[in-house]
Parts: sequence; C-alpha cells; structure tokens
Amino acid sequence: MGLEFISNPSLSERTSLRLGGTAEVEIVVRDKQDLDALSDFLLKETLRPFVIGEGSNLLAQDGQLDVALIRTDTPPGPERVEKKDEKLIVRCGAGQRLPGLLGWAQMAGLSGLEGLTGIPGSVGGCVAMNAGSYGTEIGDLVTRVRLWAPGQGLIWLDRDQCDFSYRHFSPTVGMGKYLIWDVELVLSEADPKKVRKTMQDNYEKKKKTQPVTAKTAGCVFKNPEGHSAGQLLDRAGMKGARLGDMLFSDIHANFLVNRGKGTSANAIELIEVARTSVKEKFDINLELEVIIL
Ligand SMILES: Cc1cc2nc3c(=O)[nH]c(=O)nc-3n(C[C@H](O)[C@H](O)[C@H](O)COP(=O)(O)OP(=O)(O)OC[C@H]3O[C@@H](n4cnc5c(N)ncnc54)[C@H](O)[C@@H]3O)c2cc1C
Repeated sequence: MGLEFISNPSLSERTSLRLGGTAEVEIVVRDKQDLDALSDFLLKETLRPFVIGEGSNLLAQDGQLDVALIRTDTPPGPERVEKKDEKLIVRCGAGQRLPGLLGWAQMAGLSGLEGLTGIPGSVGGCVAMNAGSYGTEIGDLVTRVRLWAPGQGLIWLDRDQCDFSYRHFSPTVGMGKYLIWDVELVLSEADPKKVRKTMQDNYEKKKKTQPVTAKTAGCVFKNPEGHSAGQLLDRAGMKGARLGDMLFSDIHANFLVNRGKGTSANAIELIEVARTSVKEKFDINLELEVIIL
C-alpha cells in the first residue's frame, strides 16, 4: 500500500479545538509492511516527529511548525483473541476510534469500558494519555501493548513493562520515540443491555456537566492531588473568562472553548492567566493535561 505523505497538513482541521497552523508533513501508515519505510524516513529526517491520533487532547500552535505528523490509519480490530473464564482479551489497533471500540463492546456484551463513554479520540491516544473518567482509566484494562520505534520494529510489552498513572503512560523499557501500534485489553462478559444502559447514563451525566459538543480539548489542567482543577479555576474567577474567541466554559471551568475564530496565542495567554490566578489565590501549581504542539 505504501506510506501516504500529505504536505502542509492543517492542524486546525486535525484537532478538536480547531486551532493551529500547519505542520510540514503528515505521514499516514496503513500497514505494518510500511513501517520500515517510516523508519528510513525518520532516521534521515530533521523534522520533529509527532504521533497524532484524533487530536482531541492537543493545542496546536499558530503558524508553520517544523513537525512531521505520524498517524496510524485503518489498523485491524477490535477482535477477540482469547477467552479466560468469564474474561475476554480483546485486541484493537491504535488508529481505531475509542467511541467505535465502546460501541463494539456494547454490541458484543463486553463490560469494562463504560466509564470511558463520551471520551473522543483514538485508542492509541487514549492509551498514550491513560485517559479515564468515572473511576475507569484505560490502563486498568490493558494486558499488553505493542509499540513501534524506528530501528527497533514492533515490540509487545506486557502490563508490568508499562507505567500507567494519572494521565500518563510510558514504557518501563527504553524505547526512545515510539508509537503505539495496537493494544490488548481485558473485558468481562456481560448483558449487552446493561452495558448500553451504563454507557447511556454516563453520557447523560457528561452532557450535563461538560461542553461535550463544543470545540474543546477536554480538561486543560490535571487535577492537583486532593483538588479539582475545575473547582479551583471556578473559585479563581476563570469560569467564562474570555480572550478573543477563546473562553473557559460556563459549564465546566477546566474546559477551554473555541467559539469559532480563536487563536492559539489567545488560548495560551488565557491558560497563563488561569495558572497565575490559581497560584496567587491557592498557592497551587496547575499542570497541563492538554498537550501543546
Ligand atoms: C469533549 C472532550 C471530552 C474529553 N473527556 C475526557 C475525559 O473524560 N477523560 C480523559 O482522560 N480525556 C478526555 N478528553 C481528552 C481526549 O479525548 C483524550 O486524551 C483522548 O484519549 C486523546 O486521544 P487522541 O487520539 O485524540 O489523542 P491526540 O490528542 O491526537 O494525542 C494526545 C497524545 O497522545 C499521543 N498519541 C496519540 N496517538 C498515539 C499513538 N498511536 N502512539 C503514541 N502516542 C500517541 C500524542 O502524541 C499526544 O501526546 C476529552 C476531550 C474532549 C474534546
């Protein structure tokens, strides 16, 4: 099939915040056989490689960035690979969309992923971020993950070779720059109707408390130990704070929203105002959850 090279890919078209200029190139990988060609390209190239999923946790900067985006597309799955008692091991390619995996699990009567309802993004991005909500983090379900790195090829890592913590994943073995190719998760057999009901309830709850349909990248800041970043921002007066077309949502103060013509410069300035306000009021340093590209 071969790698696909796209020149000057628009970052605003590739991110849910709809912000950012252009990267130099986007390389789309559709087949394992093309990974050697990707390795050759990356080992020669001086551009900064950046693996992109669905762009739902990214704040891309304005202008032309000296970045080569790498995206995995149409990998296989999800598929059942093994049954152990009532548990099922499911394999899923990193480029699959997370909501698609949840829909498949619901239809198949497989429980475990319900807490992740309403999280957009790809399965690879979800693992890279150890995304989670309502008490479930994807890392809790991962049994092994297959990574690829230039010059090293594809390598399966068992759970104990993975470090998952709050919005963090890294291999405990040295890999350098890597991309997640696919992942295996353990799910439990369950009544499909029950799985669907829990997913529906979770989505209803989310719709009431988060601007789920606005142009956002989810939570801007991580929750500091023992605190909710959203509450701290609210109490620091950031709910509804606006600069140009960027604002902190009226529904959830930790969600930065692009009203349409926002810029990354506005977004970054507003983030700094928020960070300073929380530091001055509560002496707490907020750490970014959103990745600035
Ligand atoms: C409305 C909304 C609600 C959200 N709610 C939640 C929530 O409840 N909980 C939560 O945790 N997050 C939430 N998010 C954030 C986001 O959806 C998750 O972090 C998601 O898992 C990111 O996946 P992505 O494919 O979009 O990754 P991207 O945004 O494209 O990338 C995020 C990071 O993952 C890396 N990455 C992506 N794919 C790969 C890969 N194949 N290999 C290696 N690295 C990779 C990127 O390099 C980057 O560092 C929300 C976002 C939105 C817009």
